[in-house]
Amino acid sequence: MIRQITPSMRRHLYSASSAPWRELEWSRWDACVIGSGPGGSVAAATLALAGKRVVLVERGAFRPPDDLNFSVLDMAMRLGHVDLTAGGRTTLHSGRVLGGGSVIFGAVAMQPPSYVFDEWAEASGIPELTSSLLAPHYACVGDVLSVTRQTVRQENRANAIVRQMAEAMGHEDGLELAQRYTAGCRGTGLCTLGCGFDLKGTMVNSFLPLGLETGNLTILTECEAVAFETELARDGALAVALHVVLRGAQDTLPVRLRIRAKSFVSASGSLPTSALLMRSRLRRSACPGGQVSLQPHGIVHATFDEPVTYRGHRDNGRYLPMNGVPAIYNFTGLLQQRGYYWFASSVHPSSLAAYTAHLPPDEHRQIMERFHYTSSITVTLRDNPERSRIDLRHDSPHLDFVESVRDCDALRRCFLDAARALLAVGARQVFLPMLRPPRISTDSDLMAVAEASMSYDRMLLYSDHTSGGNALGVDRRHGVTDLHGRVHGTTNVYVADASLFPSASGVAPSWTIMAFARMIALNLGATL
Ligand SMILES: Cc1cc2nc3c(=O)[nH]c(=O)nc-3n(C[C@H](O)[C@H](O)[C@H](O)COP(=O)(O)OP(=O)(O)OC[C@H]3O[C@@H](n4cnc5c(N)ncnc54)[C@H](O)[C@@H]3O)c2cc1C
Repeated sequence: MIRQITPSMRRHLYSASSAPWRELEWSRWDACVIGSGPGGSVAAATLALAGKRVVLVERGAFRPPDDLNFSVLDMAMRLGHVDLTAGGRTTLHSGRVLGGGSVIFGAVAMQPPSYVFDEWAEASGIPELTSSLLAPHYACVGDVLSVTRQTVRQENRANAIVRQMAEAMGHEDGLELAQRYTAGCRGTGLCTLGCGFDLKGTMVNSFLPLGLETGNLTILTECEAVAFETELARDGALAVALHVVLRGAQDTLPVRLRIRAKSFVSASGSLPTSALLMRSRLRRSACPGGQVSLQPHGIVHATFDEPVTYRGHRDNGRYLPMNGVPAIYNFTGLLQQRGYYWFASSVHPSSLAAYTAHLPPDEHRQIMERFHYTSSITVTLRDNPERSRIDLRHDSPHLDFVESVRDCDALRRCFLDAARALLAVGARQVFLPMLRPPRISTDSDLMAVAEASMSYDRMLLYSDHTSGGNALGVDRRHGVTDLHGRVHGTTNVYVADASLFPSASGVAPSWTIMAFARMIALNLGATL
């Protein structure tokens, strides 16, 4: 069900310029939550619903649905944030707006298979870490966000290609109908630019209004958490305040504030949460920043003889494709065995242009002219890197990341499988996400992929499923946080975001992040 942030709720929602900062400094909250993505919003709403006085700080701005205009560059800059791994090898995408990644996510709701939970239980030394532990929380989140299974009646040409690929590979049972955070969808396929129709379930139209409705939740946007002020207590470090900086319009000076609370929950994402703990010198208590996974994506484009996408229409000067729901299937049949899954992504001219940019201009123009005959498949790898560690450089997070040989081989296998299956279902040309991809129009061209040298700086990969950094672990040897999300060696600092994952989840992560956040907030609420 889509809820609205009503005018009366907006009385508790401040920007940098409207924040009553003197009043805020005098207050002492039950909980202060950092970050308003799936983790932070669910944690804040759960605590507010339990009757706790909560302040939520978010460094991005509030963008009401009317502000979302489907325009690629405009939306990417207003809603998103990009980091790079060391050496600029892989881009890391996240949201920087009230609602965090949920405003720009693809709305695909998935739960990790049971073997991932088995691995997590073993790695963390916490045997209770099972999918049944999270089951009630998955159910509650699914209910609030109207998680809905797609149906075969929604199959468009792009999805039909994914189904036929599974059949051609002899793995039709590896195809599953996707669940999505929406009970209705207009089918522009532009979810990652923010849904201007406000039909996609995001934090702004679900958990945040639920929390605001209680009157217990106050939200500060354009407010960046810098570090905790801590004291040494008998049971470990005690955070007494959070230092924040409010940055509004360019012509106003930043305001620095000290927010006092009984407990603090960081849900600002893998890199920012790890950096916050490091800046707060909580390194002595725990060792944040390790075990980070990218779970990288690549996009495979292919041209066909028949149109794949339908022509959209112009609306108020903007072009709106109307292709139907982008991903109604997930092909997960080889996830356990080969580490990857894929789905049909909506093809956008800017994406096709970028992924075929290696071609000479005349060929590039010909490909762009065949835009409506092009399909796009997003492949995702459940990775296990060789080395990955977040550190601070000039107080900002920096991810030192080296992929493993095993992951490069898995990607090669995935590209080969996808290209072979696309050719089998009628693709004329396949474009792999590589800097210099071999020309692929017949099976014999695949030999060049089998022989190509594969490393992340030779591929066009990105990550929007970055996780880890503050993994759950029974003690400091196994992880950074306990099963209740509390940072080891602290008495009142909690984590409730993707950084809790002990390893890559293998699937779209947001549902699991929200399930953990609800579990952590319910436990915390009971102690306050
Ligand atoms: C383009 C895209 C498509 C995606 N598609 C899907 C999908 O279909 N399904 C799925 O399950 N997942 C998807 N994801 C991933 C999903 O969105 C993320 O896993 C999820 O949003 C992570 O939630 P989080 O709460 O851990 O962090 P985030 O959503 O990253 O939220 C963290 C928030 O904290 C704020 N913040 C950061 N630092 C500070 C600071 N110092 N002070 C204050 N605030 C701070 C950020 O601005 C941000 O709003 C997608 C992501 C992207 C970017």
